[in-house]
Amino acid sequence: MGSIERIQNVAKRVAKWHAEGHQVVVVPSAMSGETNRLLGLAKELSETPDPREVDMLASTGEQASSALLAMALQAQGVPARSYTGWQVAVKTDSAFGKARITSIDDQRVRADLDAGKVVIVTGFQGIDPEGHITTLGRGGSDTSAVAMAAALKADECLIFTDVDGVYTTDPRVVPEARRMNVVSFEEMLEMASLGSKVLQIRSVEFAGKYKVPVRVLSSLTDPLISLEEEKNSGTLITFEEDSKMEAALVSGIAFSRDEAKITLLGVPDKPGVAFAILGPVADANIDIDMIIQNQSVDGTTDFSFTVNRNDYKRTLDIIKKTIVPATGAREVITDEKVCKVSIVGIGMRSHAGVASLMFRTLADEGVNIQMISTSEIKTSVLIEDKYMELAVRALHKAFGLDGNPAETAIEE
Ligand code: ASP
Ligand code: MG
Repeated sequence: MGSIERIQNVAKRVAKWHAEGHQVVVVPSAMSGETNRLLGLAKELSETPDPREVDMLASTGEQASSALLAMALQAQGVPARSYTGWQVAVKTDSAFGKARITSIDDQRVRADLDAGKVVIVTGFQGIDPEGHITTLGRGGSDTSAVAMAAALKADECLIFTDVDGVYTTDPRVVPEARRMNVVSFEEMLEMASLGSKVLQIRSVEFAGKYKVPVRVLSSLTDPLISLEEEKNSGTLITFEEDSKMEAALVSGIAFSRDEAKITLLGVPDKPGVAFAILGPVADANIDIDMIIQNQSVDGTTDFSFTVNRNDYKRTLDIIKKTIVPATGAREVITDEKVCKVSIVGIGMRSHAGVASLMFRTLADEGVNIQMISTSEIKTSVLIEDKYMELAVRALHKAFGLDGNPAETAIEE
């Protein structure tokens, strides 16, 4: 919701459903750019602002858009009422800036719905056990919406965003990328964790846990299109893996530019070494992603792993201060010019050779693979970041996602 006009459009869309007899709860995010603006102000005052105060500040964006939306609905003759996260009691833990929802008290919301009102609940924020305002992490209003849908046992959770659904890959990198009508929950979970920015990953986890059907739709379409048209646009995240979906070997190509690789050379190859290296990193709440340990030579080995680029400096600090002295590693090498490209598809479960087509495609393009990791429904490679777009385009084509799935040549 970037402007008054956009807020009025949201109100028109909501009024349409309300008129059709649906009970509607709306979970607005802040007006576009607002959260960045607020966080920027905090940074002007301090490099490391108090996380409690940051949440106090950042949560206001949603409060403003919620009140404005209520006014817009009322102006269109629709009874509406807005609430903050603490009024509805969206309870969270106390991890400021990345709090997790622990419970929602939906009593007030249900009473208003039963009285025929549209209820608006601020996204992104909650309240911790001591009564402090918390926020759920960037993009957290997605999670607020899914959690609210779960609490109310809603028929569906519709996420309106600036793209009209989930694509086979980012259309800014591959113009041929196509919108998927349906994507399985598991694929969506992989895509969200592998760098697709359409939904906050926690919202997908929440949807999985409570089996909430989620539909990703564009907020830019005409708000007055019919409900039928609305349902035929966007992407439905489904829990049913029908045969049509099984037909695709790979459903999407995800990528993440935010990677950094750290290698320790000459660490002793003995029990406990992986723990000595990764334990202190995990203790600092840093997520480790890909890991490789080499064959040992003369009783020592090389150990590489990747972390998010945002955590890179902190990780290197821990390595130098704690891990090098503890393990006696000979040397530390780092590389921030790496990115991760992944193929995702539930079809990979039942077909061999999918990963090898990925490797052959990258070889044909002269792209060197530095690390590989796999799960049942994805294969990821770490490559030099200057090859990222080339790799994504080549893989999108090789797996038939450019528009002609029949062309995918794969030996079974
Ligand atoms: N306003 C918050 C953000 O910008 C939450 C959201 O938009 O989902 O991250
Ligand atoms: Mg968002």
